[in-house]
Amino acid sequence: MNYLTPIISTVFGLYAKFLRKFTEKMGVTRTEGLVEHVEQCPTSGHITSLKLKNGQTVTGDLFIDCSGFRGLLIQEKLRTGYEDWSHLLQCDRAIAVPSERFEQTLPYTRSIAHTAGWQWRIPLQHRNGNGLVYSSSHSSDQQAMDTLLGNLESKALSDPKIIKFQTGRRYKQWNKNVIAIGLSSGFLEPLESTSIHLVQSAVVRLAHLFPHQGINNSLVDEFNKQSAAEFEQIRDFLVLHYHATQRTDSDFWQDMRQIKIPDSLANKIETFKQSGRLIREQNDLFTDSSWLQVMLGQGIIPQDYHPIADAMTEEQLDKMLNDIKKIKQEPISKLPDHDTFLKMFLS
Ligand SMILES: Cc1cc2nc3c(=O)[nH]c(=O)nc-3n(C[C@H](O)[C@H](O)[C@H](O)COP(=O)(O)OP(=O)(O)OC[C@H]3O[C@@H](n4cnc5c(N)ncnc54)[C@H](O)[C@@H]3O)c2cc1C
Repeated sequence: MNYLTPIISTVFGLYAKFLRKFTEKMGVTRTEGLVEHVEQCPTSGHITSLKLKNGQTVTGDLFIDCSGFRGLLIQEKLRTGYEDWSHLLQCDRAIAVPSERFEQTLPYTRSIAHTAGWQWRIPLQHRNGNGLVYSSSHSSDQQAMDTLLGNLESKALSDPKIIKFQTGRRYKQWNKNVIAIGLSSGFLEPLESTSIHLVQSAVVRLAHLFPHQGINNSLVDEFNKQSAAEFEQIRDFLVLHYHATQRTDSDFWQDMRQIKIPDSLANKIETFKQSGRLIREQNDLFTDSSWLQVMLGQGIIPQDYHPIADAMTEEQLDKMLNDIKKIKQEPISKLPDHDTFLKMFLS
């Protein structure tokens, strides 16, 4: 079988460039063009070819849909359907604007809560990335724009851009001979910046489960099972940030506290509350320390602890924690500042 996988879009800035260079070196042929028409086999429903605006036809056995939110193949042609999670994650818009870089580059991103959503500030080497993610049921676009521009810490470099999105995932990320990767496969708001991870992880999953002699349903099912679990685990972690909040200062935060959360998350919170244990799902992107920080940080305090803790006296425990603190702090004083590190790293 001759596999041709027309990648119909770039992925994301540098990562997209990296993938292109890497795959072209491995023998991938890149064909650029606007897909105007999609041909489907009348019996199997598989996609057979794409007709480009310049008249060229691209045939293939397996297609990767990277056409963004619209899902040109997976949705517009195959009608795969979308599991809508906007009742769980109610932010449905973002406004993005770049601003001048700070004199000294900060080594971290800030997420700042506002009355109807939150703001990101990402320091890059040449500029700061800023944006406001908000719920259009709780804020007008103008209010969101004013909040973002009023909270920029450096001069805006262009006009702000509004992006609309619907949180959720395709029912099947692999349907017939089409695999949706990137925004065509679903979207989770950027509170934990997970989209590029999801792209990379889908690419690796596809490499592991790549078909050999025709499309094998058990491989397709496995791909879809793993993709669904990955999306759901990230969804739960995002919902935790909103649901566990103790803020009461706006309708948005009040509503977030009251959402009916998925059972998977409710069980996780309850186990932690009752026993202090975190049960990590297999392959969960977020480790125990991430879950622990959001749980404790939002005021979810366990009522009990693991009995092994009783094997130590208070003094022993104090000494152990102080020793850990010392070991962690010692190297920090010797670290270069972020700009010096970047120069060392990039030279
Ligand atoms: C508000 C917001 C914030 C985000 N923040 C983060 C973050 O912090 N971290 C992170 O990892 N990710 C983030 N992302 C996601 C990141 O932007 C996406 O992962 C990235 O853009 C990859 O998307 P994509 O290639 O799937 O889709 P897109 O970038 O939308 O690309 C789709 C491409 O398909 C092309 N196309 C469409 N139709 C056709 C056609 N008929 N013929 C040919 N080409 C076509 C389009 O021109 C476009 O180039 C964010 C996304 C949003 C919306």
